[in-house]
Amino acid sequence: PTPLGPTPKLVIDLERMQQLPHEKAGPLSRYVATIQSQRGDYNGRVLSIRQEDLRSLAVIYDKSPGDLTEELINWGVLDPEARRAVDAF
Ligand code: C2E
Ligand code: C2E
Ligand code: C2E
Repeated sequence: PTPLGPTPKLVIDLERMQQLPHEKAGPLSRYVATIQSQRGDYNGRVLSIRQEDLRSLAVIYDKSPGDLTEELINWGVLDPEARRAVDAF
């Protein structure tokens, strides 16, 4: 354990995601919808995702995981704390 505590979770803000222009959020929305369907988890305001899912999303968006994380933070979909989750890769 570091002085900063355990690795934070990657928590997608679903309400914010729905407010984004489709050309930005489209691939993310489809990925999240797949996870919700697999879990049967449709009613949350947020969705916790796996670290490995951020890697997959980075491939989809043709960015590094770090760059995609910055984009998602800029969009307001991820909390800035998420930077520490990606540093742990
Ligand atoms: P699976 O990976 O074989 O996981 C089976 C069950 O183990 C999950 O059922 C869940 O109850 C539990 N589980 C596995 N990993 C975790 C975890 O990191 N945290 C928690 N809290 N529980 C975990 P569930 O949720 O019904 O998911 C069914 C299947 O849907 C999973 O099978 C997996 O194939 C897929 N899935 C669900 N959520 C995700 C996700 O966030 N990312 C990915 N890549 N696949 C997911
Ligand atoms: P947390 O992880 O900080 O999550 C806080 C709240 O955010 C959750 O309250 C829930 O309302 C929402 N939330 C977070 N991730 C998801 C998600 O993927 N789907 C949905 N629908 N909502 C989500 P909740 O459910 O009362 O859980 C309170 C705390 O209990 C969680 O805090 C976590 O520490 C623990 N917890 C709940 N479910 C699990 C789980 O499957 N695995 C683990 N390890 N802890 C869990
Ligand atoms: P969490 O449930 O608090 O799990 C934290 C970490 O513990 C996970 O990080 C993973 O490294 C490990 N872990 C927990 N349960 C399992 C398991 O059944 N199998 C394995 N191999 N590892 C497990 P990770 O993968 O980054 O997931 C982050 C969060 O995303 C989880 O926090 C949970 O809230 C959510 N999540 C991930 N996969 C699933 C899933 O299949 N179903 C559900 N319902 N939630 C999931």
